[in-house]
Amino acid sequence: MHSAIIDLPSATPGTRRTLTVQRFGTAGARPCAYIQASLHADEIPAMLVADKLRRILTALEAEGRIAGEVILVPVANPVGLGQSLMDHHLGRFDQDDGKNFNRDYPHLTEAVAERVADRLTDDGEANKAAIRAALAEALAERTPRTETEHMKHRLLELALQADWVLDLHCDLEAVMHLYTLTPSAEAFAPLQRLLGARAVFLAEESGGDPFDEAVSRPWNELAKRWPDRPIPFGCHSVTVELRGQADVEHAQGEADAQAIAGFLTHAGVLSGEPPALPEPLCAPTPLESSEPLTAPVGGVVVFHHKAGDRVEAGAVVADILDPLTGDVTPVRSESAGVLYAHSATRFTLAGKRIAKVAGTTLRRTGPLLSA
Ligand SMILES: [Zn+2]
Repeated sequence: MHSAIIDLPSATPGTRRTLTVQRFGTAGARPCAYIQASLHADEIPAMLVADKLRRILTALEAEGRIAGEVILVPVANPVGLGQSLMDHHLGRFDQDDGKNFNRDYPHLTEAVAERVADRLTDDGEANKAAIRAALAEALAERTPRTETEHMKHRLLELALQADWVLDLHCDLEAVMHLYTLTPSAEAFAPLQRLLGARAVFLAEESGGDPFDEAVSRPWNELAKRWPDRPIPFGCHSVTVELRGQADVEHAQGEADAQAIAGFLTHAGVLSGEPPALPEPLCAPTPLESSEPLTAPVGGVVVFHHKAGDRVEAGAVVADILDPLTGDVTPVRSESAGVLYAHSATRFTLAGKRIAKVAGTTLRRTGPLLSA
């Protein structure tokens, strides 16, 4: 393993944060997998899995089994990791401006299209190389200013050149689920099966410009723009939701890391016999069909189901109790599907999302991800 430190510019005199980048295999070798943990800094299962993965990769490297290259950033968000308020860790939003750390990544398709329009040929590999170079140039033209902008810029710079990007997150209370671009569903089927994902969500654009789509969307959109040119899909990316925030446990973390290593073997990043694939536990569904359940009133939340339960259309997923009047307001799922995540607290304000069901019938529009 080769470890390097990226210094982020100091935000205030006397402070300095860094990104640690751990590389396995030969620099520049392909296929290259980029894996980062806890971009939402309060999603701790990801850092545990990254630690387990580092141990696995270190052992495999000693056996000469890193065929390509793996780039691991075990702490992707040192800014968010240091944020707390009154004993509560706040890692999802930047305290400085309230922005979600996994939103507002640059959409580079247009800038890349301008650069490659005259350079695309009938040679797919040459086109891929030209697009990768253009992606790097387009990103380099952007000028980050704040510490967080620099951090996001440096993470994206690393991931943009990879063949595979795994962004490790978790939900509040949840079962294993994945988000990926629609054209990448097949590519991540081995990961889905090895991790035992209970839901896989597909979209060509989720809204909000999350990290994973910043690296993958340009390939999809450029291929559509030039259907007469061979443009291989240069970067498949996935957001892996490692269950809920409290699911931090050695055996489970080890199993998840082994599953990711198994996937990397299927992808040819690691050499050796790929593991057998268990039967899939779900079929991928459109993200637009995922149903957020919203509390119509504020009050005490009493769930009737736990994460992982399959609910029928019309099922009462939770009651909202008004402790002053005793009024009970049921919250029903319009969709049938797996209740793949719900809130971790048991009190809600009116209008807040308290649960999500992996349905198949809704066709939501607008931003499809949680705030
Ligand atoms: Zn997250």
